[in-house]
Order: sequence, then structure tokens, then C-alpha cells
Amino acid sequence: SLSEKLQSVFGGLKGKGILEEKDIDQALREVKLALLEADVNFKVVKEFVADLKEKCMGEEVTKSLTPEQQVIKIVNQQLVDLMGGAGAKLTYSPSGFTTIMMVGLQGTGKTTSCGKLANWLKQNGKKPYLAACDVYRPAAIDQLEVVAKAVKTPVYIDRENPDPVDIAVKAREEAERKGCNILIIDTAGRLQIDDTLMQELADMRKAVKPHQILLAVDALTGQDAVNAAKGFNERLGIDGIIMTKMDGDARGGAALSAKKVTGKPILFMGTGEKYDALEPFHPDRMASRILGMGDMLSLIEETERSYDEKEAEELARKLKKNQFTLDDFLKQMHQVKKMGGIGKIIGMLPGVQAGQFSEEDVEKGEQEFVRMEAIIHSMTKAEREDPSILNASRRKRIAAGSGQSVSQVNNLIKRYNEMRKMIKQFTKPGAMKKNRLLRGLF
Ligand code: GDP
Ligand code: MG
Repeated sequence: SLSEKLQSVFGGLKGKGILEEKDIDQALREVKLALLEADVNFKVVKEFVADLKEKCMGEEVTKSLTPEQQVIKIVNQQLVDLMGGAGAKLTYSPSGFTTIMMVGLQGTGKTTSCGKLANWLKQNGKKPYLAACDVYRPAAIDQLEVVAKAVKTPVYIDRENPDPVDIAVKAREEAERKGCNILIIDTAGRLQIDDTLMQELADMRKAVKPHQILLAVDALTGQDAVNAAKGFNERLGIDGIIMTKMDGDARGGAALSAKKVTGKPILFMGTGEKYDALEPFHPDRMASRILGMGDMLSLIEETERSYDEKEAEELARKLKKNQFTLDDFLKQMHQVKKMGGIGKIIGMLPGVQAGQFSEEDVEKGEQEFVRMEAIIHSMTKAEREDPSILNASRRKRIAAGSGQSVSQVNNLIKRYNEMRKMIKQFTKPGAMKKNRLLRGLF
């Protein structure tokens, strides 16, 4: 994957006290290859790497970050910028009634996205209404009907009317009559952009004056997807993109190039076939997902600001001696919690996807925290100091003592080991003393 490749690039930088131009060049060459292999548009890659080099060279050597961390930080920021910086949100018409046209090639996920969007809008207090304007295949109308039912949203269907533009206009009237405030129009797609399709969409645009034209783009089709997006934008004009099938093994290229190539932001991403699998798109979260670093970097930065110096030095010393114990693990969790970052703890846990943390997640995180605390408190001093002695019978005893299951105990130990490994990735022999940042973390 792209994240694995980029990580191996950064692994190669590790252990360097100072980065020289040739190191940067080598790293950038790898970044370039990784991006090309991820099917990112060639022009985008070229520009990306040139900018990156300028930033890396121009960067002042800071005391707080190792050169490797510095490069990660720059690459990360550049990825965020590439995907649209702060991120864009779906906007609503100031008139109080918003019309959205969902367009795209066949099979990109228009109909599914219409349902997901209706579902999401409902959760955000809106009253959506769907319109079935893909009239060429009867099955398409049936599909939207099923989708509408599943997301409990009213839908305008007229099987007798062969004119999608007319249907859209009538659906809009009906939506207002019904007291809905958002109309989502499902349109027809084709295998390729062609004049007939574009004409129909342009006519519809003229007739219903949509506030937003959203383009469904299939992330799995990589560069083709981006080219199609470019075509739609040039010929019809789009306002935003829904990047679908981000749950599949897309190489990431489409998400990375779309904004740059079309100039239009990705507003949402589809992450599954179910109707709740739609998330607002956050470039920063996507970048850290691509880099595979979770919230590590921001965590490090925040901690740098708020660490307890004495404790930090103590932990730094322990880490240096490879004595990062379960007590330290717990302390570390406490420290993060103190910073108000339970969401960060969740985000740091391996296997957690980048995405919005709901209140429920945070609550789960809190519970998880209490659970971990209970487990660690049920261990003997010797066990906490040297978790490697935790054999099956000890684990069983600890589980019983803390009222948790053995698999929860195993899970905690796994996390502890993963955190150790993560910490190691960010350290290098001898760097601790100079590295204010890592001292900050511990
Ligand atoms: P349309 O022709 O553009 O209307 O596409 P559909 O909405 O019918 O979707 C085509 C196929 O893609 C269906 O099998 C959907 O279930 C699937 N699909 C759509 N969005 C996603 C997604 O985000 N993830 C996954 N895994 N499948 C999706
Ligand atoms: Mg469809």
C-alpha cells in the first residue's frame, strides 16, 4: 500500500542525525515512486515532489524534531494541502431549499450515494426528498425505491414519464409541497462521457438550478476516475465530489489527485455498501491514513506543549534503557487523557480507521481506558515491570482479578507492545537526550 511504501521511505531516513540534500533527494525519489504506483496523476506527482523538495530544503533545522520527523511532517502537510487543506463542507442554499444533482458515470455509486446522503442529511436535521431521474433502465428506478425505503426517505417516482428533466422539475415542486428542504436527484450514467448524457444533465441543470452538482467518483478506478471528473467539471461544472468505494483496495491515487486536477473538493467519501457508510472527507485524516501514522504526529506536537518535565525525563531515561513498563504505558495514557485527548487515544490505537469520532466512540474510549486500568492494576509489580513474564496462567489470573476476559488482557498486552514498537520507530539510539519532542512524549 501507499502508506507502507511511504513508511519504508521514512524508515530509510531513520538514524540520520542531519539530512543532507542527497538524503532528501533519495527520499523524494521514493515518495515519487510510491505516489506513481498509487496511481496518482503524473503531473500532480511532479509538482508535489518539486514543492516538497523546496520545503524540505528551506526548512530550518529545529531542535525539537529529528530530521526524519521533520520530513514526515512536511510530507503530511503537503498531502493535506493537496487534498484541499481544511476540507470543504456541503453547503445549503440560502433560500432554504437546496437542490442537489447526483451525477457520474455508470456504476460509480450515484444511486447508493443518494441514499447515503439522504441518511446523513436526516441525521443532520434536514428533510431530504429523493427523485428517480435515471429513466432508461426500469431497474434503476426500482433500486432507488429500495434505497429510499431503507433510509426512510420519501421518493418521487413516475414510471410513465420518459423525460428526466420534467421529472426533476415536478419532484422539486412535490418536495416543497411535502415540506422537505433538500431534493436529491439521482441521474443516469453512461460508461463514458458522451454528448447525449451531458446534454440531458445540462438541460436538467438549467431547469432545476441545483445549488450543488455532486459527482460520484469510483476510487477503485484510479486515474480514469480523475479524468472522468475532469470531463464532468469542464462540460457540466460540478461543485464537489463524493469519492466512493474508499473501503476497497483503492491505491489512494484518485483521492489524492481529484482536487488538484478538477479544482473541486471531495466532500464525502463512501466507505461501504451500507447506507451509513458515508463520511465527510477530511484531508488531514486522509493524509494520516495514507501515511499510516494515525494521530502520532499531532499527538507528539501537542504533548510537546503540555508535558510534565520531570516525569518526562524519567520516562525518557527508562525508554532509553528499554524499560518502558506497563505502568509507563498507563501513565502515558493518563497524560494523553489529561490533555483532553481521549479521542486521540482511540485514534492512536492500531486498527482504528481515520474518521469522525462520535460521542459513542469517545464513551467507548473512556470505558476502554477504565478497563485497561483495571487490568493493569490486577497485575503484580513484577508483571507490570516485565510484561514478558505474562504466561497463560498469569493472564487468566489477571482476567479473573480485574473482571475482564482473557482476550481483553491479551488485547491490552498487544496494544502495549504495539505502542512500544511505535515509540521505537520514533526514536533512535542517542537521540533521546537532544530530542525535546520525544522527551515531551514520555
Ligand atoms: P450508479 O450506477 O452510479 O447508480 O451506482 P450504484 O449506486 O448502483 O452502485 C454500484 C455498485 O457500487 C453497487 O453494487 C453499490 O453497492 C456499490 N457501491 C457504491 N458505493 C460504494 C462504496 O462506498 N463502497 C462499496 N464497497 N461499494 C459501493
Ligand atoms: Mg444508479
